[in-house]
Amino acid sequence: MVKCPYCGYEADLKKFKLLREPWKFRFYTVRMLKCPKCGGIFNYYVGISPRTGEKSEYVIRRNPKP
Ligand SMILES: [Zn+2]
Repeated sequence: MVKCPYCGYEADLKKFKLLREPWKFRFYTVRMLKCPKCGGIFNYYVGISPRTGEKSEYVIRRNPKP
């Protein structure tokens, strides 16, 4: 599940529009996503931490709330 940092909309990754090809940042895969509800754009990071072996995910806002 991915949660929009602007409006709180929560849904499967597939529900969000992928704006460009995913890329790698350290051990994360980064996807630039657009929320289908509010149109907010954010980066979704997900990966397995090599230090703890646990899944780590977070989002970073790309633009101020419209
Ligand atoms: Zn949203």
